[in-house]
Amino acid sequence: MTRHVVIVGAGIIGAAIAFRLSQGGARVTVVEGALPASGASGRSFGWINASFSLNEDHFLLRVAALTAHHALAADLGPLPTSWPGALSWEEEGAAQDATFTRLTEAGYPVRRLTRTEIAALEPGLPAPPPTALHFPTEGVTDLAALTRHLLQAAAGQGARLILGVPVTGILTRNGAASGVRTAEGAIAADCVVIAAGTGAPALLGPLGMTLPMLHRPALILRTNPLPPRLSHILVTPALELRQEADGRILAPTSAGHQGDSSDRLSDTPEALAADALARLRSILPGIELDWQETLRAERPMPGDGLPVVGSTSLPGLYLSVMHSGATLGPLIGSLVSRELLLGRAEPMLAPYRPDRFARDSIDQL
Ligand SMILES: Cc1cc2nc3c(=O)[nH]c(=O)nc-3n(C[C@H](O)[C@H](O)[C@H](O)COP(=O)(O)OP(=O)(O)OC[C@H]3O[C@@H](n4cnc5c(N)ncnc54)[C@H](O)[C@@H]3O)c2cc1C
Repeated sequence: MTRHVVIVGAGIIGAAIAFRLSQGGARVTVVEGALPASGASGRSFGWINASFSLNEDHFLLRVAALTAHHALAADLGPLPTSWPGALSWEEEGAAQDATFTRLTEAGYPVRRLTRTEIAALEPGLPAPPPTALHFPTEGVTDLAALTRHLLQAAAGQGARLILGVPVTGILTRNGAASGVRTAEGAIAADCVVIAAGTGAPALLGPLGMTLPMLHRPALILRTNPLPPRLSHILVTPALELRQEADGRILAPTSAGHQGDSSDRLSDTPEALAADALARLRSILPGIELDWQETLRAERPMPGDGLPVVGSTSLPGLYLSVMHSGATLGPLIGSLVSRELLLGRAEPMLAPYRPDRFARDSIDQL
């Protein structure tokens, strides 16, 4: 009998799982409380990388994730993803040397560039730094567009999308998850996947489980459109930035490699935007810049900064919550769907199981 999987959340993680599960023959329903990509996936910088990682397993997961983006494009045809490469001088001196050595020894494509080489690669940069690391295989994706693309492809494979209907609870029967409750009625399922980003803890709480999450508010900003100028993802000590196809420059307000270190935004969005604009002007002096759009976001960041993926202590309830979803989404879609379709644990997911928090905070039912 075909299993019915209900996925809660239509961000990149829910969309990628829905696509691969429906491709594998499962009956899939995605239930989204708002619109697709209305959470973090619609407010992301979209940098696909493995130059940043928290440990060796995490590095290998991210390397595999780059490959998974290419596999997805091979399956689906043109996607809103491109591979311009990244130039990083976020670290300088010994720290930059150490990253270069670590990544080179791990076999990751990286070059150390001089100022002249940086100027040749990125001529639109008015004041290139003395040195930078070049990650030629890294990319960017329009994460909202990719999310919608995957949902559309999933729907084409028979998945059902229910939008604007928040899930208010997980239903249980005989000690296992049996579906979800919504204001519009119950939906029965053989398996429920929580891919609700920062909404996950509220769904787990009534079951007696708590998922520790870091509170990481962020602002993502877009400037007025500029003539084509920058071709790489630029990772500077002041800011991460890149120019989008429509000419606008996109930047999260704070530097810090995909994770704002603060648990609150201490200023108004206008003050943060003004501050970020000043830092951007220091990187692009002499260029007319103004903000056109600021979007507030909450990074879905589990308590130790690593993904949380796998079965919970409630049979039939599966969890998939993480930061770096722009990088990891397509890979997570493949790994999770294989686990659910074949019932076989994917070794690459072993370090990220929800029960690692069990002693601290995920109570056994
Ligand atoms: C400013 C910023 C910059 C980032 N930059 C990068 C980057 O450069 N590279 C990178 O790899 N990652 C980056 N990320 C992280 C990445 O965007 C996220 O990891 C990813 O979007 C998470 O996707 P998701 O599907 O898990 O969550 P979300 O996109 O938040 O989706 C969860 C969905 O679940 C829905 N939902 C929640 N609760 C319920 C409920 N009860 N019922 C029904 N629906 C519900 C929400 O409405 C939402 O649509 C960035 C994030 C931010 C905020």
